[in-house]
Amino acid sequence: MLPLPKLREIKEAIKALLVGPYTSKFPKEGHQPHPNFRGQPKFNEQKCVGCLACEEVCPVKAIAHEDKIDSKESKRVMIHYTDTCIFCGQCEAACIADHLGIKLSNDWELSFFERKNAYETIEKEIQLCEVCGKMLACTDHLKWIAQKIGELSYSNPSLYLSRLKALGLIDDNLVAPLKDQGRSDRTKILCAKCRRSTTL
Ligand code: SF4
Ligand code: SF4
Repeated sequence: MLPLPKLREIKEAIKALLVGPYTSKFPKEGHQPHPNFRGQPKFNEQKCVGCLACEEVCPVKAIAHEDKIDSKESKRVMIHYTDTCIFCGQCEAACIADHLGIKLSNDWELSFFERKNAYETIEKEIQLCEVCGKMLACTDHLKWIAQKIGELSYSNPSLYLSRLKALGLIDDNLVAPLKDQGRSDRTKILCAKCRRSTTL
Protein backbone atom coordinates (compact mmCIF):
# COMPACT_ATOMS: atom_id res chain seq x y z
CA MET A 1 0.00 0.00 0.00
CA LEU A 2 1.29 3.45 -0.96
CA PRO A 3 2.08 5.73 2.00
CA LEU A 4 -0.46 8.52 2.50
CA PRO A 5 0.83 12.09 1.87
CA LYS A 6 1.79 14.02 4.95
CA LEU A 7 -0.27 17.05 5.98
CA ARG A 8 2.66 19.35 5.16
CA GLU A 9 2.86 17.90 1.64
CA ILE A 10 -0.89 18.35 1.08
CA LYS A 11 -0.59 21.98 2.24
CA GLU A 12 2.31 22.61 -0.19
CA ALA A 13 0.40 20.95 -3.05
CA ILE A 14 -2.69 23.14 -2.49
CA LYS A 15 -0.47 26.24 -2.22
CA ALA A 16 1.28 25.36 -5.48
CA LEU A 17 -2.09 24.94 -7.21
CA LEU A 18 -3.27 28.34 -6.01
CA VAL A 19 -0.15 30.52 -6.31
CA GLY A 20 1.91 28.52 -8.81
CA PRO A 21 5.30 26.85 -8.34
CA TYR A 22 8.29 28.49 -6.63
CA THR A 23 10.60 27.74 -9.53
CA SER A 24 10.75 29.96 -12.64
CA LYS A 25 10.02 28.59 -16.09
CA PHE A 26 13.62 28.95 -17.22
CA PRO A 27 14.68 28.81 -20.05
CA LYS A 28 11.17 29.50 -21.43
CA GLU A 29 11.00 32.64 -19.32
CA GLY A 30 13.97 34.71 -18.17
CA HIS A 31 14.88 34.34 -14.50
CA GLN A 32 14.56 37.47 -12.32
CA PRO A 33 17.15 37.25 -9.53
CA HIS A 34 16.69 38.77 -6.08
CA PRO A 35 17.97 42.39 -5.94
CA ASN A 36 20.71 41.30 -3.49
CA PHE A 37 21.85 38.41 -5.67
CA ARG A 38 25.66 38.38 -6.00
CA GLY A 39 26.25 38.03 -9.70
CA GLN A 40 29.08 38.77 -12.07
CA PRO A 41 31.19 41.85 -11.24
CA LYS A 42 31.20 44.50 -13.98
CA PHE A 43 33.76 47.19 -14.68
CA ASN A 44 32.59 50.77 -15.06
CA GLU A 45 34.87 52.36 -17.67
CA GLN A 46 33.99 55.91 -16.57
CA LYS A 47 34.61 55.35 -12.86
CA CYS A 48 37.61 52.95 -13.00
CA VAL A 49 40.98 54.71 -12.83
CA GLY A 50 43.09 51.68 -13.80
CA CYS A 51 44.96 51.42 -10.47
CA LEU A 52 45.07 47.57 -10.39
CA ALA A 53 44.02 47.29 -6.72
CA CYS A 54 41.25 44.87 -7.74
CA GLU A 55 43.74 42.69 -9.61
CA GLU A 56 45.97 42.66 -6.53
CA VAL A 57 43.24 41.43 -4.16
CA CYS A 58 41.41 38.96 -6.41
CA PRO A 59 41.97 35.57 -4.73
CA VAL A 60 41.55 33.53 -7.93
CA LYS A 61 43.32 35.81 -10.44
CA ALA A 62 40.08 36.53 -12.28
CA ILE A 63 41.28 40.06 -13.02
CA ALA A 64 44.29 40.83 -15.20
CA HIS A 65 45.56 43.67 -17.35
CA GLU A 66 47.57 44.26 -20.51
CA ASP A 67 49.45 47.49 -21.17
CA LYS A 68 49.66 48.44 -24.84
CA ILE A 69 52.30 51.13 -25.24
CA ASP A 70 52.26 52.91 -28.55
CA SER A 71 53.58 56.34 -29.59
CA LYS A 72 50.12 57.23 -30.97
CA GLU A 73 47.80 55.74 -28.34
CA SER A 74 48.77 53.92 -25.14
CA LYS A 75 46.15 52.09 -23.16
CA ARG A 76 45.67 49.65 -20.31
CA VAL A 77 43.18 46.87 -21.01
CA MET A 78 41.54 45.64 -17.80
CA ILE A 79 40.26 42.08 -18.15
CA HIS A 80 37.74 40.22 -16.00
CA TYR A 81 37.59 36.44 -16.56
CA THR A 82 33.99 35.51 -15.89
CA ASP A 83 34.67 31.75 -15.85
CA THR A 84 37.27 32.05 -13.05
CA CYS A 85 35.45 34.58 -10.83
CA ILE A 86 33.93 33.27 -7.59
CA PHE A 87 31.83 36.42 -6.93
CA CYS A 88 33.52 37.07 -3.58
CA GLY A 89 33.28 40.88 -3.98
CA GLN A 90 36.87 41.55 -2.86
CA CYS A 91 37.49 43.61 -6.02
CA GLU A 92 34.54 45.91 -5.28
CA ALA A 93 35.57 46.23 -1.62
CA ALA A 94 39.14 47.24 -2.59
CA CYS A 95 38.23 49.54 -5.48
CA ILE A 96 39.73 52.96 -4.80
CA ALA A 97 37.17 54.69 -7.02
CA ASP A 98 34.53 54.72 -4.24
CA HIS A 99 33.88 51.01 -4.98
CA LEU A 100 32.36 51.97 -8.32
CA GLY A 101 35.16 50.97 -10.73
CA ILE A 102 34.05 47.36 -10.47
CA LYS A 103 30.80 46.25 -8.86
CA LEU A 104 28.95 43.00 -8.37
CA SER A 105 25.90 42.98 -10.61
CA ASN A 106 22.73 40.90 -10.82
CA ASP A 107 24.01 39.17 -13.93
CA TRP A 108 23.83 35.41 -13.43
CA GLU A 109 23.74 34.24 -17.05
CA LEU A 110 27.35 33.16 -17.62
CA SER A 111 27.09 30.34 -20.14
CA PHE A 112 29.37 30.42 -23.19
CA PHE A 113 29.79 28.20 -26.21
CA GLU A 114 33.53 28.88 -26.21
CA ARG A 115 35.37 29.23 -22.89
CA LYS A 116 37.94 31.53 -24.47
CA ASN A 117 35.16 34.13 -24.85
CA ALA A 118 34.40 34.16 -21.11
CA TYR A 119 35.88 37.56 -20.33
CA GLU A 120 34.99 41.24 -20.39
CA THR A 121 37.33 44.20 -20.90
CA ILE A 122 37.54 47.94 -20.52
CA GLU A 123 40.26 50.30 -21.71
CA LYS A 124 42.00 53.11 -19.84
CA GLU A 125 44.33 55.71 -21.35
CA ILE A 126 47.95 55.52 -20.14
CA GLN A 127 50.06 58.61 -19.42
CA LEU A 128 53.62 58.33 -20.73
CA CYS A 129 56.58 60.44 -19.64
CA GLU A 130 56.63 63.33 -22.12
CA VAL A 131 60.43 63.11 -22.39
CA CYS A 132 61.50 59.45 -22.34
CA GLY A 133 58.15 57.79 -23.15
CA LYS A 134 58.20 55.54 -20.07
CA MET A 135 54.81 54.64 -18.59
CA LEU A 136 53.73 56.64 -15.51
CA ALA A 137 50.22 55.42 -14.71
CA CYS A 138 46.73 55.62 -16.15
CA THR A 139 45.74 59.24 -16.88
CA ASP A 140 42.65 58.93 -14.68
CA HIS A 141 44.76 57.51 -11.84
CA LEU A 142 47.02 60.60 -11.89
CA LYS A 143 43.94 62.84 -11.86
CA TRP A 144 42.51 60.79 -8.98
CA ILE A 145 45.71 61.19 -6.91
CA ALA A 146 45.89 64.94 -7.63
CA GLN A 147 42.26 65.32 -6.55
CA LYS A 148 42.77 63.23 -3.40
CA ILE A 149 45.80 65.09 -2.10
CA GLY A 150 44.43 68.50 -3.10
CA GLU A 151 46.88 71.40 -2.79
CA LEU A 152 49.72 69.00 -1.88
CA SER A 153 49.75 68.00 -5.56
CA TYR A 154 51.43 71.35 -6.30
CA SER A 155 54.66 69.84 -4.96
CA ASN A 156 54.58 67.35 -7.85
CA PRO A 157 54.49 69.06 -11.28
CA SER A 158 53.43 65.87 -13.10
CA LEU A 159 50.37 65.63 -10.83
CA TYR A 160 49.22 69.22 -11.07
CA LEU A 161 49.94 69.33 -14.80
CA SER A 162 47.77 66.19 -15.21
CA ARG A 163 45.02 67.93 -13.29
CA LEU A 164 45.30 71.16 -15.29
CA LYS A 165 45.35 69.16 -18.53
CA ALA A 166 42.19 67.29 -17.47
CA LEU A 167 40.51 70.62 -16.75
CA GLY A 168 41.54 71.85 -20.22
CA LEU A 169 43.60 74.68 -18.71
CA ILE A 170 46.89 73.83 -20.42
CA ASP A 171 47.88 72.45 -23.74
CA ASP A 172 51.08 72.02 -25.77
CA ASN A 173 51.20 75.80 -26.38
CA LEU A 174 52.38 76.27 -22.82
CA VAL A 175 55.71 74.62 -23.52
CA ALA A 176 56.27 76.17 -26.95
CA PRO A 177 57.71 79.54 -25.74
CA LEU A 178 60.05 77.71 -23.34
CA LYS A 179 61.96 75.69 -25.89
CA ASP A 180 65.45 76.53 -24.62
CA GLN A 181 68.14 74.19 -23.30
CA GLY A 182 65.61 71.70 -22.04
CA ARG A 183 63.87 74.17 -19.68
CA SER A 184 60.60 73.54 -21.49
CA ASP A 185 60.79 70.00 -20.09
CA ARG A 186 60.04 71.42 -16.64
CA THR A 187 56.45 72.03 -17.70
CA LYS A 188 55.88 68.51 -18.91
CA ILE A 189 54.43 65.40 -17.30
CA LEU A 190 57.57 63.42 -16.45
CA CYS A 191 58.65 60.16 -14.86
CA ALA A 192 60.69 60.45 -11.66
CA LYS A 193 63.98 59.94 -13.49
CA CYS A 194 63.35 62.65 -16.11
CA ARG A 195 62.00 65.03 -13.44
CA ARG A 196 65.22 64.59 -11.50
CA SER A 197 67.50 65.18 -14.49
CA THR A 198 65.56 68.24 -15.73
CA THR A 199 65.58 69.69 -12.20
CA LEU A 200 69.31 69.12 -11.81
S1 SF4 B 1 34.40 38.93 -7.29
FE1 SF4 B 1 36.19 38.00 -6.26
S2 SF4 B 1 36.85 36.43 -7.70
FE2 SF4 B 1 35.50 37.77 -8.86
S3 SF4 B 1 36.87 39.25 -9.81
FE3 SF4 B 1 36.18 40.15 -7.87
S4 SF4 B 1 37.79 39.58 -6.41
FE4 SF4 B 1 38.04 38.25 -8.19
S1 SF4 C 1 39.69 51.80 -10.00
FE1 SF4 C 1 38.69 50.02 -9.06
S2 SF4 C 1 38.10 48.74 -10.81
FE2 SF4 C 1 39.57 50.20 -11.59
S3 SF4 C 1 41.55 49.16 -11.50
FE3 SF4 C 1 41.32 50.34 -9.56
S4 SF4 C 1 40.39 48.89 -8.12
FE4 SF4 C 1 40.13 48.02 -10.19
